Amino acid sequence: MIYPWGSNRRYNAWSELSRRLYGTRIQKLAVNAGFSCPNRDGTLGTEGCTFCNNEGFIPSYCQPSVSIHEQLDTGLAFVKKRYPRAGRFVAYFQAYSNTHASLDHMREVYEEALRHPAISGLVIGTRPDCVDGAKLDYLAELSRKYFIKIEYGVESCDDETLRRVRRGHLFADSQKAIRMSAERDLKTGIHLIFGLPGESRQQMLDQAAAINELPVHTAKFHQLQIVKGTAMAREYMAHPDRFSLFSLDEYVEFVSDFLEKLRPDIAIERLSGEVPPRLIAGKPWGKVRADVIITMIEDKLKEKDGFQGRLYA
Ligand code: SF4
Repeated sequence: MIYPWGSNRRYNAWSELSRRLYGTRIQKLAVNAGFSCPNRDGTLGTEGCTFCNNEGFIPSYCQPSVSIHEQLDTGLAFVKKRYPRAGRFVAYFQAYSNTHASLDHMREVYEEALRHPAISGLVIGTRPDCVDGAKLDYLAELSRKYFIKIEYGVESCDDETLRRVRRGHLFADSQKAIRMSAERDLKTGIHLIFGLPGESRQQMLDQAAAINELPVHTAKFHQLQIVKGTAMAREYMAHPDRFSLFSLDEYVEFVSDFLEKLRPDIAIERLSGEVPPRLIAGKPWGKVRADVIITMIEDKLKEKDGFQGRLYA
């Protein structure tokens, strides 16, 4: 069967959609331009979200002391070996909140990346409370010439959860930022964490309806991981009863159910996070790779004859 996104996969995979739209794999090259985040630099707080482990996913060559051009060169050499078929490269501003700066500074940093001859666009990760009309207007202007995507860390649609993990913004901030981005025709992605403390399975499933109402283009999902050194790790050690972490099988079942409720045109960029070595808690998943988890989720959908959007009203 061919599903509404034009393939026989049971969910709308961004990897395939982007190949169809752009004729090639769009490969992200991570860069760290030294942006901070309002939850760490004192604007809103200094301790960060309780789960935050930014250092854990920043590649070692991505250091703000190294020029953006050099970081891109290093990333390019690495990914060309790993993904020889990748034909289009974009700079991925992933670490921290990459619009938490003046517009002048953003221009300087982004335009340095866009001057690299191999780079044809930007993917910008940020918090929903770190954008405004002028910043989005600038990104919209860039998007007339380059591939530009903005990714918002929504994390949860539940304000109580957002307060509990010390996020420093509410779901209304995400709704507003996503709508303002869409008004400017910007490609917009979201990131959600499944398994945050205090959320029941049903509450998490119900978030699909809240996301469906928003003009979102892509989504990334991530199981909660409690990583050494975070405030959440300390909370877990003191009160493990407050947490209800997914086993691998539970997660596969949950994500397959979530996808069935999700709008079919939202392209899925990621279905799970890689387990970092510094994980302190979680029902052990073993060394399972993200592609294995994808297959398990697809098998689960097949088992129940389900697909993304089947239960989307
Ligand atoms: S998760 Fe993002 S917003 Fe939260 S403290 Fe870390 S960098 Fe800041």
